[in-house]
Amino acid sequence: CGIVGIIGHEFKVSDLIDGLKKLEYRGYDSAGVAVIDQNGLYVSKSVGRIDNLKSVVETEKVVHGGIAHTRWATHGAPSDKNAHPHTDCSGKIAVVHNGIIENYQELKNELIEKGHKFKSDTDTEVISHLIEENFQGDLYKAVLEALKKLKGAFAIAVIHSDIPNIMVGARKGSPLVLGCNDERCILASDVTPIIKYTRDVIFLEDGDVVYIEGNKAKVTDFSGNVVIRKHTHISWDE
Ligand code: GLU
Repeated sequence: CGIVGIIGHEFKVSDLIDGLKKLEYRGYDSAGVAVIDQNGLYVSKSVGRIDNLKSVVETEKVVHGGIAHTRWATHGAPSDKNAHPHTDCSGKIAVVHNGIIENYQELKNELIEKGHKFKSDTDTEVISHLIEENFQGDLYKAVLEALKKLKGAFAIAVIHSDIPNIMVGARKGSPLVLGCNDERCILASDVTPIIKYTRDVIFLEDGDVVYIEGNKAKVTDFSGNVVIRKHTHISWDE
C-alpha cells in the first residue's frame, strides 16, 4: 500500500502512475488516481495490477495536481468502488489513505445522519466526507478539523478541485515523505517516487500536517503550530 501526490507545475498522469510503480514492492490489491485539470476532478480506479490503471486513464493528460494510491484492503473487499482515491458528496475533494480509521463506523453513522451519501465500504471514505463537512474555502483548516475526530493510524493526502495548487497531507502511524523542487512538491509513502524530482526530502513525523501550495510546503502539528523538520539528502542511486 502506498501514496503518491504531486502538485505545482503541470505534469502528466503517467508521472503519478510511475510513482506508484516505485511503491509496488509494498504490496497492493488495487490502485487509483485522482487528478485536477481546468475542468475539475477526475478519479480512476482499477483492481489488480498498477498497469491496469493505464487502460482506464488518459496517461498523457496534463494536470495541475493529483494523488494516487495502491491499496491493501483492510475494510471493504478489494474492488473498483473500494479502491482509493475516495471523494466527498460534491465530487471536488479526493483523499488517499494508508492505515486504519478505528472509529469509522461511528463517524460514518454521524455523517449519514447529516445527509452524506457513501459510495464505498471503506473506513477511508469518512475522511473525505468529514473534510467536506468542515470545508469553508480553506482545505488546510478543514483537514485540521477532520483530524481532531480520526482515531487510528493514517497517512493521508487530500486535494480539492476548486483550489488546484493546494495539497494537504498528514501522518500518524503510517509513513509520509515530502520533497519539493523549483517546480512542484511530491508527497509519498517513501523516498523512491520522489528522488526523480529532488534528493532533498523531509521525513514527516507522527502528528505532522503538511500544507503545500505549488512548490512550497509548510509543516505544522495537528493544532496548526509550525514545526521545523530537518531535511535529509538522499545520496543513493535509483
Ligand atoms: N483501510 C483502508 C482501506 O481498506 C486503507 C488500506 C491501505 O492502507 O491501503 O481501504
